[in-house]
Amino acid sequence: MSGIIGHTMYAILGAKAAQQRRLSIAPLIQRHWASYLAGSYLGCDIQTMPEAVCVDTGREVGYGTVPLETSPLTGGKVRPYYFAMGGRQYRPNEIHQLFYGRSHLTFGWSRDQQDLTLPWDHLPDYCEAVVEDALTLFGPGERPLAYVLGWMTHLVGDGLIKSIAPGVTLHLLDGQYTPRNRPIQDLVTFHEVGRKELQVDWPALLTDLSETPVEAIQLHYMRVTAPRGRLARDFPDGWMPAKEELLQAVLQENRRYLRIYKDYVLKEMELQRSGQSWQCNAELCRATGGLSYAQMVAAAEKADFRQALWQIGEAVGTLLAEASQLMPKLHPMPAVGEPSWAELGARWKRS
Ligand SMILES: [Zn+2]
Repeated sequence: MSGIIGHTMYAILGAKAAQQRRLSIAPLIQRHWASYLAGSYLGCDIQTMPEAVCVDTGREVGYGTVPLETSPLTGGKVRPYYFAMGGRQYRPNEIHQLFYGRSHLTFGWSRDQQDLTLPWDHLPDYCEAVVEDALTLFGPGERPLAYVLGWMTHLVGDGLIKSIAPGVTLHLLDGQYTPRNRPIQDLVTFHEVGRKELQVDWPALLTDLSETPVEAIQLHYMRVTAPRGRLARDFPDGWMPAKEELLQAVLQENRRYLRIYKDYVLKEMELQRSGQSWQCNAELCRATGGLSYAQMVAAAEKADFRQALWQIGEAVGTLLAEASQLMPKLHPMPAVGEPSWAELGARWKRS
């Protein structure tokens, strides 16, 4: 299952909500669009790596930690994938255990790190400290901040859709976010909402996103580096600098595999015309209990899926507004806007 479609959409909607509120960070998000979107996925989901290798073709397949019995390419055998680093080999699940809670903060910590779970209502404080450090320690460039803002959209999106926090009222088929309804959420987000309504060019967007560089600030907000800045002052516990080199390599691996994996996702989302109707991927159809694409769209309509997307976009907008309030004292924006081309013409062009 993809995950990347939902999170990219939450970030797109959050950016729209930020624009509507005329937040000072809204133009900054537009200036660093690909890094903002990369933050909204790779900023959190560090298990973006192969799960297995297809024995027949030798190609890497699957998505880290999601069990895979047979090759999705040939139906043949697979062998487990190992991430090699510093003379050691790690299964994606071990990487998940080590780092997943550190990027998601409010859930997903392994048992031995449980005590680091951040209460949901402390999330704005944590984000505020990271935003301040993005400007003071990682500035004056804006790209780290755009990446951090993207990461924040993932925290909100995951928290709401996975019911860690209240705010989304969705009952689609059999619940809010279930193995049966995930394919519906992905397909409807991809085609009906994304492609048709918002004019999203998914192949271009996912390619740009996967080509963005690793941001050093990710090691900082995951506390896998030497403690410093306001984050270290406000959240002195849980820093793990000894794993910095490993996480750095994992973040590189995430980008490397996303370039391959995004094509699997795009393929999986494809619809085939059959007569008057559209058929989706057989595996996804099976996961929903055999619904046709038209039935999936109808189920999403009935559950008012767009209302849930609106709720998430609005919640993201609220968190971005809180981050925006920090800007005046840390990174003053010019009081008068930048001159337009017409204004420059009036000043510069000889009549
Ligand atoms: Zn996540």
